[in-house]
This record gives sequence, structure tokens and C-alpha cells, in this order.
Amino acid sequence: MIQEIYAKVLLNHVPQPDHWFGLRYNMNLYRGCQHQCIYCDSRSECYQIENFRDVLVKVNAIELLQKELAGKRVKGTIGTGSMNDPYMPLEKQFNLTGQALEVIRQFRFPVHIITKSDLVLKDLETLQEINQIYAAVSFTITTADDDLGKQLEPGAPLVSARYRAMESLAEHGILTGVVMMPVLPYLEDNIENMNALVTRAYNSGAAYVIPSFGVSLRAGSRDYYYRELETHFPGLREQYQNRFGNMYHCPANDAVRLREVFTVLCDQFGMATSMPVYTQETAKQLRLF
Ligand code: SF4
Repeated sequence: MIQEIYAKVLLNHVPQPDHWFGLRYNMNLYRGCQHQCIYCDSRSECYQIENFRDVLVKVNAIELLQKELAGKRVKGTIGTGSMNDPYMPLEKQFNLTGQALEVIRQFRFPVHIITKSDLVLKDLETLQEINQIYAAVSFTITTADDDLGKQLEPGAPLVSARYRAMESLAEHGILTGVVMMPVLPYLEDNIENMNALVTRAYNSGAAYVIPSFGVSLRAGSRDYYYRELETHFPGLREQYQNRFGNMYHCPANDAVRLREVFTVLCDQFGMATSMPVYTQETAKQLRLF
């Protein structure tokens, strides 16, 4: 079900410093997500989203963004894509992300997007203009295998489509890379997957790959994930239950070794393993040119 709602506030302040993506503000233009990844943390009870399949569309988001940015004294990166995907299929219909980027361009703020969709390419021109300040697009990729990806992220575009979109963004000078989170124990925590994922990222113009070797599960997201494991991967639910019980962070098998191999691989390719973020210094340098 898709429902239109009116929000009171759009931009949230991100606690500083944000070591992951260097964000100062965060926005969610929608609530709920059509990509329906089986491991999604946004299903957790703490977020109080009643039915994650229902998508709420904040129809006054653009008006709010204009008003809120006009009152911001501090320029800082605006992030989107943490609680839902800004390029889920209904973005084709509502174009809220596209319109929000247009407002961000007008106010000359930096932006960072996390997505699993090649639909981001529809906003390439606006992103190029924002890139005079700073624009970065991170693609979440957890497996290099399209078939496995389809089982884990049933509503999202194929992994191969994400790599192609990354290539296109990189060719147009947009900073792009991979968020390799989660790495699912028993499904994705093997050297072959990591090698393939990182190598394809490099070949697609990624400047960075940000890893997290494991998955976080809490009340709400855990139950859903376990049910899906039972359906698609017989026997795996029991393995998880025996090993992790109710643990929040469920580490990948052989996580230390995986990290070592990952780090060497990224070094060889010259890719960063953390986000090259926007800073006031970058802005000053750009102004000098
Ligand atoms: S794309 Fe992100 S927010 Fe959407 S279902 Fe997948 S993990 Fe959750």
C-alpha cells in the first residue's frame, strides 16, 4: 500500500562527528521500502514502523526542505538512504529524491546518497551540478552474485545493474563506491565473494569500499530474517540460532582473516576503505580554483 502523508520536519541532525559518511544532516523522503531486503534493519521494532511493506510518501517534503535549508547556517553534507532507498521504484512516480536534489543544488549543499538502484542515473545532471561542491553516491552491494542478490534483496535491481550505474557515475566525475554491509554469515562471508565484489567495484570505477563483516539483528528484523532463511536456505535458521541466539551483532565467519584479505585487495587497487568525506577544507580549496 502507498499512502501520502504530511511530515512536520524533514532534516535530522546527525551526531557529530559522523565517522561513517561525514554527514551533518539526514533526510528520509519516504517511510518503508519497496526493496524488501530480507536482512533490513529498518524492520526493527525500535523504529516503530508498523508494516514495512507499506510506503508512506512525504508529499510536503520539498516545501519543508526549502524552508529548513534557508535557515541553516552551517553547510554540511546531507545524507539520504539510511532508513529506506531513495530510488525505490515509486521514485519514478513521485520524483521526491529528484526534486530534493534540485533544492540541494540551489542552496549549494553537499550530498551523499546510499542506494541499491540504477534509477539514480535519472538525476545525473543535477548530481554533476551539486558536485561543484560535493556529491557522492554509495551503492550497497553485499554479494557479487545476481542470483543470490535476488533472493536476499527481492525488490531491488540486480547487482550487475548497480555496477553499471556506478561505472556511469564514475565516468561523469561523481565520487562513487560500495557500502559492503552486511556481510551475511554462511551466505556471503567467503573470500571468493569478497574478491569478486571488490574486483568488480574497482573495474566499475569505485573509489572506496566500506565494509562491515557481519550483520546486525534485533527484535523485529531478526524474526523476519529467520523466517526468510527458513524459506530460501533450509537449515540455516538453526545454524544462526545455535551460534548467535539473540545477539545484536552477528559476526561473519573468520572475520579477521576476511578483513585482512579485503584490506590487501583494496590496497592493491588503490581504493579507500572509508568514505572520502566533504570537509570545509575541500570547500575552501574548490573556492580557490
Ligand atoms: S534497500 Fe535498504 S532500506 Fe530498503 S529494504 Fe533494503 S536494506 Fe532496507
